[in-house]
Amino acid sequence: MQRKELLYSGKAKSVYITDDPKKLILHFRDDTSAFDGEHIERLARKGAVNNRFNAFIMQHLEKAGIPTHFERLLSNDESLVKRLDMIPIECVVRNFSAGSLCKRLGVEEGRELNPPIFEFFFKNDALHDPMVNLHHMLSFGWASADDARQMEDMSRKVNIYLGKLFLDAGLLLVDFKLEFGRYDGNLRLGDEFTPDGCRLWDRETRRKLDKDRFRRGLGGVVEAYEEVAARLGVDMEISSA
Ligand code: ADP
Ligand code: UDP
Repeated sequence: MQRKELLYSGKAKSVYITDDPKKLILHFRDDTSAFDGEHIERLARKGAVNNRFNAFIMQHLEKAGIPTHFERLLSNDESLVKRLDMIPIECVVRNFSAGSLCKRLGVEEGRELNPPIFEFFFKNDALHDPMVNLHHMLSFGWASADDARQMEDMSRKVNIYLGKLFLDAGLLLVDFKLEFGRYDGNLRLGDEFTPDGCRLWDRETRRKLDKDRFRRGLGGVVEAYEEVAARLGVDMEISSA
C-alpha cells in the first residue's frame, strides 16, 4: 500500500491518502497532548504501543459485531483503515465519575455510575469540545436522528464488550471516547481506541493506567500503556508488512 500525501495532521496522528481512494493510512505519532492541545510532549514508543493496542481492540470489536474502519497493521506505528466521512461528534460512555463530569457536576472522582452515562460532545478544540444533544446535531446538520441512535447503541455495545475484556485483565473501564463516520452509507467506528482516549484503573488499587498520568504529571505514561497491553495480551510483533 503506497503512502501518498498528508491529508490531515492531528494532535496525535497523521492521516495519509493512499493509492486506493477508499483507504487511508493512520500514522500514530509519539506526540501526546492534553487540555485541547495546549500541552504537547513526545513520549518514546507511544505511537507504536497505541498502534498495536488500537489494532487489538478494533479486531476484537469487529468480531463482536461492531463495524470498524480497521483493515490491517502496516508497520510499527501505521495502520491501514477505510476512509470514513467523519461525524464531528465525540461519543463518551462513563462507568465511573472522572474528568469533565466531576468538574461539570461537582461530584467526586470514582463514583460508580449505574446505569452508565452516555454523552455527545462537538469535536472542536478551539471551543473545548462543548457538550451537545440531538437537537444541536439535527439543527446544524452534523448527524441525523438515526445516526445519533446508532452511535449511542454501538457505544453502549462497545462498553459492555470492552468492560468485560478489561475486567478480565484486572482493569476497570472508567470512561472512553469514540468517533464514528460514514462508509458506503453505513456508520462505522473510526479513529482509535487506546489509553489516550479512555480511562483505565487497576481493579484492586484504582491506580491510573491511562492518559490521566500525563494530564496530571504522574510519570510512567507509556509504561502504564505497556502494562495494560501486556495484561490484555496485545501482540507487539508485526505479522504483516
Ligand atoms: P485530533 O483531530 O483530535 O487532533 P488525531 O491526531 O487523532 O486527532 O487525528 C486523527 C484525525 O483523523 C481525527 O480528526 C479523526 O477524526 C480522523 N480520522 C480517524 N479515523 C478516520 C477515518 N477512518 N477516516 C477519516 N478520518 C479519520
Ligand atoms: N476524551 C478524548 N478526547 C477528547 C475528550 C475526551 O479521548 O477530546 C476521552 C478522555 O480520555 C476520557 C473520556 O473521553 O477517557 C471522557 O473525557 P472527559 O469528558 O472527562 O474530558 P477530560 O476531562 O478527560 O478532558
